[in-house]
Amino acid sequence: MIKRIHLAKPRGFCAGVVMAIQAVEQAADHERQPVTVYHSIVHNHTVVDRLERGKGVSFVEDLTEIPMLPHGTDTVVFSAHGVSPAVREQARALGLATVDATCPLVTKVHTEAKKYAAEGYTILLIGDSARHQEVIGTQGEAPEHTILIGVQGKVGGGLNDPRTVQVPDPERLVVLTQTTLNVDDTRQTVAILKERFPALVIPPSEDLCYATKNRQDAVKAIAPQVDAFLVLTSTHSSNGMRLLELARELCGRAERLETAADLAHIELSGVTSLGITSAASTPDDLVQEVVAHFRQLNPALEVLEEGEWENIRFRPAKKVNLDGTQEA
Ligand code: SF4
Repeated sequence: MIKRIHLAKPRGFCAGVVMAIQAVEQAADHERQPVTVYHSIVHNHTVVDRLERGKGVSFVEDLTEIPMLPHGTDTVVFSAHGVSPAVREQARALGLATVDATCPLVTKVHTEAKKYAAEGYTILLIGDSARHQEVIGTQGEAPEHTILIGVQGKVGGGLNDPRTVQVPDPERLVVLTQTTLNVDDTRQTVAILKERFPALVIPPSEDLCYATKNRQDAVKAIAPQVDAFLVLTSTHSSNGMRLLELARELCGRAERLETAADLAHIELSGVTSLGITSAASTPDDLVQEVVAHFRQLNPALEVLEEGEWENIRFRPAKKVNLDGTQEA
């Protein structure tokens, strides 16, 4: 029986996710036409499902899937993961107004990519999948200047091995990263690249975001005190899957679940002390439902929650009309 739960803190929604979901909700409430989001606004099935059912929002992977209405201008929301300039241009060509819900911390990496490419650098972009929306968006800023790199042990599928990658000019190289990678793996990969290419430029502030680091630190703090971990995340959430891997590495036993309904398939025999965390895109009511499940089985359940919540907010996304005018 579970006697004690350690809830990771922080966990769940980051400032970028809050801003992105609010952007979609606001557009859905104010637009006369149905609102479409390019890609999943954030990588969580429950969030997407709630927006589809509750707000009538549609999600597409290709802008040409948006049904064009004969009157007025349709609006598309760009997801928190960011888009390439090619997608922005396509939206303009299709006559779509846009709401850019890209997380500002992703935009920062895009800005770095543009700057270094313009200065003639080759960008070594560390990512966890060549197909991840954030990697595609950042690479799209300077496709001719970008080489994708995988963290150690996770190469292939378009990601080059940092130990063997070949570059056009070792004297003009910069490393950038996806925002949601494993902190330790990323540092190790950057160290390998720096050793091979001593002139490698490492931008002064890391690209890994505060939410990624803080959620991983919270798992590290709890791991020594628990027999097993539960991680609430969708499989396509990069930061969530990194939490799952980390919890498994530190604790030996960690399971992923989407919602409390998945507990029916999770075996926790011999576990008395349980750690719980959630991805930056997982709504916290899903975590509370899991806690409620264990409290029902054991009314004397102890729930500990140490650590600090973050106090970061991002400015709301604005709508940009076709003529370039902005609306709050
Ligand atoms: Fe932004 Fe980090 Fe949240 Fe991604 S995980 S939306 S980069 S704050």
